[in-house]
Amino acid sequence: MIISVASGKGGTGKTTVSTNLALSLGSQVQLLDCDVEQPNAHLFIKPVFDRTQTVTTPVPEVDMNKCTFCGKCGEICKFKAIVVVGETVLPFEELCHSCGGCMAVCPEKAITEKGRELGVVQRGLYNGIEFIHGKLRVGEAMSPPLIRQVLSYADAGRLTIVDAPPGTSCPVIESMKHSDFVLLVTEPTPFGLHDLKLAFGAVKILDIPCGLVINRADIGDERVREYATDEKIPILMEIPFDRRFAEAYSRGDMIVDVMPEWKDKFLELFEKIRSWVK
Ligand code: SF4
Ligand code: SF4
Repeated sequence: MIISVASGKGGTGKTTVSTNLALSLGSQVQLLDCDVEQPNAHLFIKPVFDRTQTVTTPVPEVDMNKCTFCGKCGEICKFKAIVVVGETVLPFEELCHSCGGCMAVCPEKAITEKGRELGVVQRGLYNGIEFIHGKLRVGEAMSPPLIRQVLSYADAGRLTIVDAPPGTSCPVIESMKHSDFVLLVTEPTPFGLHDLKLAFGAVKILDIPCGLVINRADIGDERVREYATDEKIPILMEIPFDRRFAEAYSRGDMIVDVMPEWKDKFLELFEKIRSWVK
């Protein structure tokens, strides 16, 4: 089973939920941090990394000795990632989606592929929990291929928890689309409600069952709960605002380590998800 933990915006407690759920479940779990632009789950799980893999994506390289400047490569590229200007062909690697279209249409076989570095994937262990995350190269915008590489480590024989990036754009969809269940984390505030609506909209399109965790549940108002009722989103857990949680977070400590009674609550959360998926 793959459970993705997602939120419409950052700072709602998504990583707190994914890491504490993983730690409560123990060695049966692998945790995949797909927030490759800003991975931070390792600051809490603290794995010992034993493997680092550089991830590249193929981009076109033009042999100017073969090129006849026919323009076909530029015509097929909808991303304007390769442009023919007079007797020059300009590939813009940062815009390239690695579809291979330009290479396929080139009549002179003048285009080959080379690898462009996107970032790294690291794997490590903590108390039997397998931890994998991706780190996007600074300045790099093309995160989905790196996310796919992180997700390729998902082991069908284990329970996989995916810490998805915040938001509702391509990287989030890429992270969630193969999940059996999406756990949406939000706060009972107007901003939380706004972003929950966006996140739930994305989950509905993907047609994946989902449930809600309300963080800092005793602040704000009732509108998130009313929305959940209207949309039939089950509220699976409420985490109160507690200074001890904030202090633990700021030290990089886990809630279930600082307050062990919360381990049972995260295990209950998992049982609710499991029965929902069944
Ligand atoms: S399709 Fe091939 S031959 Fe034509 S302009 Fe592009 S690289 Fe040159
Ligand atoms: S591989 Fe695809 S996206 Fe990249 S330059 Fe060629 S046609 Fe454009």
